[in-house]
Amino acid sequence: MNDTIAPERKRAGLFESALLKVFTRTAQVVDIEDVGTAFRIVTLGGSALRNAAWTPGDKIQLQFGGWVQRTYTPIDWDPAAGRTRILVYLHAGGPGAEWGRTVKTGDGCVVFGPRKSVRIARPQAPVILFGDETSLGLAAALSQRLPSAVQMLFEVTAPADTQPVLARLKLADARVCARQAEHGHLPALERELSVLLRLRPTADIVLTGQAGTIQHIGRALRQAGIDAGRRQSKAYWAPGKTGMD
Ligand SMILES: Cc1cc2nc3c(=O)[nH]c(=O)nc-3n(C[C@H](O)[C@H](O)[C@H](O)COP(=O)(O)OP(=O)(O)OC[C@H]3O[C@@H](n4cnc5c(N)ncnc54)[C@H](O)[C@@H]3O)c2cc1C
Repeated sequence: MNDTIAPERKRAGLFESALLKVFTRTAQVVDIEDVGTAFRIVTLGGSALRNAAWTPGDKIQLQFGGWVQRTYTPIDWDPAAGRTRILVYLHAGGPGAEWGRTVKTGDGCVVFGPRKSVRIARPQAPVILFGDETSLGLAAALSQRLPSAVQMLFEVTAPADTQPVLARLKLADARVCARQAEHGHLPALERELSVLLRLRPTADIVLTGQAGTIQHIGRALRQAGIDAGRRQSKAYWAPGKTGMD
């Protein structure tokens, strides 16, 4: 039986490599910075990253082989130098978190994108960004583009792990709410969001992070009569699902 599977696998592997060559960019890990113990800023570089059309909020997919890919949000992208940085959250587990934990400077890496993900429709309007650990890179990207116009609220598992990232990425104004068992923190999140909406009554609202919380907050915003045109949602992960894009 192995005699028949092996050539099939080999063919699938060759097909994958051929496709990746056409549609992806090859890069190298040129720097890794630990930010506390739960996050790493990974800088990717290489001539293939030059001249990329990147807008803050766009995503990339890292290809790990065997058709496994995981999605990340560049903090910034220098098209002249061919460099981009991503913030990887080292949650308990999956190929993405494992890559983030074990990657070394000099490692090669295959990048699909950048591609459109979160886009700010009205560049001059204030923005309220809701998210979690996986949204901090997006927050940094949007804040650089719209200094002082982005109000941020994050639900996180361990606020002490997140504090060094907020300091490092200059997101000190962000509000942080600790997750509680049985979603016990959701009323507090709603209260925080109401405060932000009072501060920025005309803001566009971007919801990212964990799918279930996004649904909950989206419902609360609808009930509060916030116009659908002012809201956008992008789920970054969901318990039990893998590799959301
Ligand atoms: C558009 C987009 C942009 C993203 N940008 C970033 C980014 O900049 N930085 C970043 O770190 N992540 C980002 N993510 C989220 C990241 O792609 C997911 O967390 C992804 O699941 C990580 O891959 P993994 O292989 O570690 O886990 P997977 O194999 O995908 O998941 C395994 C299991 O781990 C759990 N899980 C997955 N993610 C988390 C999490 N964050 N916290 C707790 N449990 C989790 C789930 O139960 C899941 O079933 C983004 C996702 C999307 C869709």
